[in-house]
Amino acid sequence: MSDTLLIRNVRPAGGAATDVLVRDGRIAAIGAGATGGDASFDAGGRLMIPGLVEAHTHLDKSFWGMGWHKHTAGPALIDKIETERRNRREFGIEPDRQSGRLVAQMVKLGTTHIRSHVDVDTEVGLAGVEGVMAMRERLKDVIDVEIVAFAQSGMLIRPGTLELLDQAMAMGADVVGGLDPCTLDRDPKGHLDAIFGLAETYGRPLDIHLHERGEVGAFSMELIIERTRALGMQGKVAISHAFCLGMPDADHVRRLMEDLARERIALVTTAPASSPAPSVMACLKAGVVIAGGSDGVRDSWNPYGMGDMLERATLVGLRNNFRRDEEMELALDVCTYQGAKVMGIENYGLEVGCTADFVILPGETICEAIVERPADRTVVKRGRIVARHGELTQPIA
Ligand SMILES: [Zn+2]
Repeated sequence: MSDTLLIRNVRPAGGAATDVLVRDGRIAAIGAGATGGDASFDAGGRLMIPGLVEAHTHLDKSFWGMGWHKHTAGPALIDKIETERRNRREFGIEPDRQSGRLVAQMVKLGTTHIRSHVDVDTEVGLAGVEGVMAMRERLKDVIDVEIVAFAQSGMLIRPGTLELLDQAMAMGADVVGGLDPCTLDRDPKGHLDAIFGLAETYGRPLDIHLHERGEVGAFSMELIIERTRALGMQGKVAISHAFCLGMPDADHVRRLMEDLARERIALVTTAPASSPAPSVMACLKAGVVIAGGSDGVRDSWNPYGMGDMLERATLVGLRNNFRRDEEMELALDVCTYQGAKVMGIENYGLEVGCTADFVILPGETICEAIVERPADRTVVKRGRIVARHGELTQPIA
């Protein structure tokens, strides 16, 4: 395997055509006439964007590659949780296999980093975490995966779950997960004490699903902010969904945003079409990092999704009414640089010295690529071509 790769005639971030030399997994030089590659790739004037960052998904329970499963869950959160538990028993959703299938799809489309929440409960135990960890080891050359130990079915309401979360962290899960402290566990103090306690014990960050809307969600968010401040966990806490920031009380939302920025608590959004959601522009203006994610892809929660973070950029743009080019570029930023901040990815980007994780794709401009979502994507992971013109270079599922 060659250690150097010369990419010719490529336009980093939509700029002028140039050559990019990759050596030992990093961008070693940028400039017309860069030389020295053992192998070369002629990009034919295509764009280069940094590797897409999937900052919130659920790899362990996708139906990807298992045919179509009829969706029958009712509208409430608990309906979906119970349907999922039943589906898992009936359909044989094997986390190692299923996470690998979905990763193959995501890699082909240009994702180079994934944060996956993985279910931990008294029924599945640690099988999901073990399965995704096995997949992560198997595919470590093509994708970086961060695992969030996540009590999807509730933590305090299911005795034994907290102990399993503790074991998941001891096994090597990267992030402690939380979920709706008021409405699911119905004990916000107990829930937050437990997950912040685990985060402190293992010295790991937190990522909390917060679907709670309006004043209830705002109350939970204030408790999260207070604990982050009290425990000195600035920069180590993310809140996913944060639907409460889509509530109409603009003054309250502004105060929450200021507090999130002060405690460096990040947000992760799917830019949902059917729920309130934080405004990307308001977050960025307030100094709050906001990343993007698909959430579940083709699972018992969500029948939709292609695992495509360029599609997510389109959804972020539509949700936020981004029409001007510089706004649309922000939508891609949510799915790249902002995600890298949430996941703490070092040396991320298209500068000399950055890790060579990037995507080469057609498009006159970044905005055109977001809108067209071309299938022709060449994906480089740590300096190695893992997908060429939309096809994986090696089968990885
Ligand atoms: Zn989720």
